[in-house]
Amino acid sequence: MSLEGGCACAAVRYRLASEPLFVHCCHCLNCQRQTGSAFVINLLIEGDRVELLSGDPQPVDVPRDDGSAQRVYRCPSCQVAVFSEYGTPAARFVRGGTLDEPAAVAPDVHIYTRSKVGWLALPESVPAFEAYYDARVLWPAESLERLDAVMGR
Ligand SMILES: [Zn+2]
Ligand SMILES: [Zn+2]
Repeated sequence: MSLEGGCACAAVRYRLASEPLFVHCCHCLNCQRQTGSAFVINLLIEGDRVELLSGDPQPVDVPRDDGSAQRVYRCPSCQVAVFSEYGTPAARFVRGGTLDEPAAVAPDVHIYTRSKVGWLALPESVPAFEAYYDARVLWPAESLERLDAVMGR
């Protein structure tokens, strides 16, 4: 699987050097506000596995409801957000809608369903949580090993 994507004006292009660690569909209100949509698709992956083919996404610290900031990287020209990070650049959250083929990935988990819009029905086959979840329980062993490696654990 080769996942590539980019912003709307094509100044920013990226390629994922491997499959994502895990794919979140987040229904929290922060994500809804940031995207202007009902949820966000985030591909979690090691920061150094997001290979920039062109462009230089610029960080914008976006306030979250809990008082923290989420660093969102945007194309300096068209301002489309291509990925973000929470606290550390070691792991990045690539926005699924910026993939050339967004349908190439599907969520491994739905989170913060307590604020999910009522008109959206989730599939029974995918784990869903009112808030967050325990990655140690849900992630494949290989992804946990990769996470530990990149976090220096
Ligand atoms: Zn752009
Ligand atoms: Zn969220």
